[in-house]
Amino acid sequence: MDSYFRARDILDKAMGTDSYFQIKSILLGLKAADVVEMRHGRWMTTDAYPHHLYCSVCYKTYAKNAKWVNELDLPTNYCPNCGARMDKEDEHEAD
Ligand SMILES: [Zn+2]
Repeated sequence: MDSYFRARDILDKAMGTDSYFQIKSILLGLKAADVVEMRHGRWMTTDAYPHHLYCSVCYKTYAKNAKWVNELDLPTNYCPNCGARMDKEDEHEAD
């Protein structure tokens, strides 16, 4: 599995080292990979529509309710609208 890093992060780490300009030159010579930054969200409900699931990133309604998601065997680990990965912890669970 390939790993991708931001050129800016690499240069920040190399800042102040003897290799900074050599690393910068190498990075400028590379072709940028076509990747999309992964967004993380969670399924949530609102008081007004407690039986509807919303994506916390794009706020688009995804499913009428969790039972419907299970019956249709729809993916629940990502939002089909924006692609956000549904692995963000629910802030309210710790309360
Ligand atoms: Zn979404």
